Amino acid sequence: MTQVKSYAAHQADKPLAPFQIDRREPGAGDVEIEILYCGVCHSDIHTARNEWGGTQYPVVPGHEIVGKVTRVGNEVSKFKIGDTVGVGCFVDSCGHCDSCKDHQEQYCENGHTQTYNSLSQDKKTITYGGYSSHIVVTQDFVLSVSDKLPLEKVAPLLCAGITTYSPLKYWGVKAGDKVAVVGLGGLGHMAVKLAASMGAEVTMLSRSPKKAKDAKELGAHHFALTTEKETMEGLANTFNFIIDTVSAEHDYNEYLKLLRTNGVMVLLGIPPTPSDVQAVHLVMGRRSLVGSLVGGIKETQEMLDYCAEHNITSDVEMIRMDQINEAYERTLNGDVHYRFVVDMKSL
Ligand code: NAP
Ligand code: ZN
Repeated sequence: MTQVKSYAAHQADKPLAPFQIDRREPGAGDVEIEILYCGVCHSDIHTARNEWGGTQYPVVPGHEIVGKVTRVGNEVSKFKIGDTVGVGCFVDSCGHCDSCKDHQEQYCENGHTQTYNSLSQDKKTITYGGYSSHIVVTQDFVLSVSDKLPLEKVAPLLCAGITTYSPLKYWGVKAGDKVAVVGLGGLGHMAVKLAASMGAEVTMLSRSPKKAKDAKELGAHHFALTTEKETMEGLANTFNFIIDTVSAEHDYNEYLKLLRTNGVMVLLGIPPTPSDVQAVHLVMGRRSLVGSLVGGIKETQEMLDYCAEHNITSDVEMIRMDQINEAYERTLNGDVHYRFVVDMKSL
């Protein structure tokens, strides 16, 4: 075991604070990574504050990790010391169920291991995430990161990037499709960039008028305020695909009405509270309401390569580790442009 520095939440209603954690010595197939940057995802906040239930304290959040390989086990073939690498939302899975065999490790039928607040495959050890100086991960769950792009802007691709890329690919969004993105935060701004890069006509649906200019700069063709009743009514039956990234309770019915015949609305945001959906909005127009969880390792590598090729990165605001509690408050107030990233040198 190696003791490393981290930041942890010890209780739902207490600020995160410095904490020492044990990292395992790299096993034969393991890669040890010195973390350079870690993005701040809204899931970190839901978990630190136990909004979904099931948080095991102390919890060290962080699943948008970019760093350098510092040690490798003797069976590691994919990486060498000094390589630039990434780690996303999960670090292991059973490897033999149908989902794993199909490169959909995020849907592992025997329970994948998330990067933090999750059981390792030994079903005993709790994982600690990227708000830490180092992490040890089996090589199959480590991604190659191009040095071509600024690494702090690449970090958010490991969650916000793949979570929005995967449904766009799975539901086959193509040039000319009308796509709406609901909520302009970390996931939302990546959804706009990625959908626009695939040739879709993108509309940003936001409750924040001050984000209109940014939405256009990020690549949205249109901006609509969800708080304006007439604007929303005017958008009825408009979109082929809606990507909903909102983190808090809101009325799905208002958005389902905006789908065209056979349109699909994918939920990415995970509000902690249940919602009512009126069947009529699905029945009329044979619309679908679906969900999607990040993406598999193979697809995450594909997304990183796609972003390197198309020069797509996240818009970030860098913070020190000791600014994390303030960053959480600002995220909750919608004051994030558009992802906080922790510079791990500050830990
Ligand atoms: P974020 O940066 O905080 O963005 C969420 C956006 O939702 C806000 O910027 C805001 O946009 C909108 N919003 C927030 N509260 C709202 C409210 N009360 N009513 C209406 N709109 C509201 O969060 P994020 O990191 O993008 O994460 C978004 C959600 O996705 C979280 O629930 C997170 O846990 C989840 N998530 C899911 C996956 C997955 O695999 N499915 C992966 C990562 C994250 P406007 O100001 O523009 O309205
Ligand atoms: Zn995330």
